[in-house]
Amino acid sequence: MGKRYLIGVDLGGTNIRVGIFREDNSILNVDSKKTNAFGRSSKEIISDISDMVLSVIEKTGVSKSDIQSVGIGAPGLIDGRTGVVKFSGNLDWADVAVVSDLEEKISMPVKLANDADCAVLAEAIAGAGKGYRNVCMLTLGTGIGGGLVSDGELLKSGPGSMELGHMVISICGKECTCGARGCFEAYASATALIRDAKAAATNDETSLLWRLCEGKIDNMNGEVPFVAAHKGDEVAKILIDSYISYLGTGIVNVINIFRPDIILLGGGISNQGDYLIEPLTRYVRKRVFAGERSYIAEIKKASLGDDAGLLGAALL
Ligand SMILES: [Zn+2]
Repeated sequence: MGKRYLIGVDLGGTNIRVGIFREDNSILNVDSKKTNAFGRSSKEIISDISDMVLSVIEKTGVSKSDIQSVGIGAPGLIDGRTGVVKFSGNLDWADVAVVSDLEEKISMPVKLANDADCAVLAEAIAGAGKGYRNVCMLTLGTGIGGGLVSDGELLKSGPGSMELGHMVISICGKECTCGARGCFEAYASATALIRDAKAAATNDETSLLWRLCEGKIDNMNGEVPFVAAHKGDEVAKILIDSYISYLGTGIVNVINIFRPDIILLGGGISNQGDYLIEPLTRYVRKRVFAGERSYIAEIKKASLGDDAGLLGAALL
């Protein structure tokens, strides 16, 4: 009989989550604790992961010999082939051989991938991308994470993962956190939308965009501009149109390069549903190479939410 369980580790800058999954991708048990990455060595954090993996196995009463493998999803520059976290600002790690260290502790095979890759893998196999051959996912958050799954396998381009958030959409454009200028995420992440919304609201205090902040610009979030635009606020409408054009431009590039069957959007902004997806789809369909003559990927909201990273790590 085959090995029946998979373990996923979602190693984030804030929390470590460890989940044990059945063969049908349903979750059996999950454990979570704070990462506390700063001020602690990678050895201490790997010890925590090892303790959590062993305790989740013990709690569920599953035999260790029934575990197929343990997968880790981590933020940053990852070399999945050697099992090394090359660099991660969120974890304060450089050149950490997490796979060999953890394998030694738990005596089970361990795999490693970038967290955005884990999310797209889970969505392609068990989420909104199920049934499609080539699935691309973009997570609109602090930055933009992205990846592609082709025929059930992560599309890999050598060491490291795809950095769709850092494709340049404007030469000499806005500064990005990576040090370059004009990156996709400097225009189309949630952070970028909020930055531009704050500027537009401050610039016109008669706008609904400003009034919805109730006198405090820090009340601005990724939802306020959509609410204001939907209620007809001209300032918010211009802002959202501009946001859609940047997001749409990145998506047109992704479609022209990869021709995926579907593009899934994750992160808080994707909760805007049709307010986002309808104008975005119109924008993209007009601009993709060969337009309506070609097959143009559907754009849909991802469905697994925060659990995508955990399940995707298990599916590695
Ligand atoms: Zn960048």
